[in-house]
Amino acid sequence: MSPSRQRREERPDYGWVISYGCKETGELKRLKVDTDPAADTSPIEVPCACGEVHRVTVSPYRRRRAADEPFDLEVNSLDELRS
Ligand SMILES: [Zn+2]
Repeated sequence: MSPSRQRREERPDYGWVISYGCKETGELKRLKVDTDPAADTSPIEVPCACGEVHRVTVSPYRRRRAADEPFDLEVNSLDELRS
């Protein structure tokens, strides 16, 4: 058990979810991000499961992720998806 995991058990934090549409498959995908994405809403480039990289506009209407909510991709910060 890492110290960070211990801390998370005291105050549950399941991250944030940003939804985006995959143009290739027509599916709605979920991107999980650990840090609050509201600080910077500039577009991100998401390496999608379909093999393409989708340019996604970050909406300020992000939402908390539910404990058992599935996601397709996970990052610590949206900055990882900006070039
Ligand atoms: Zn896709």
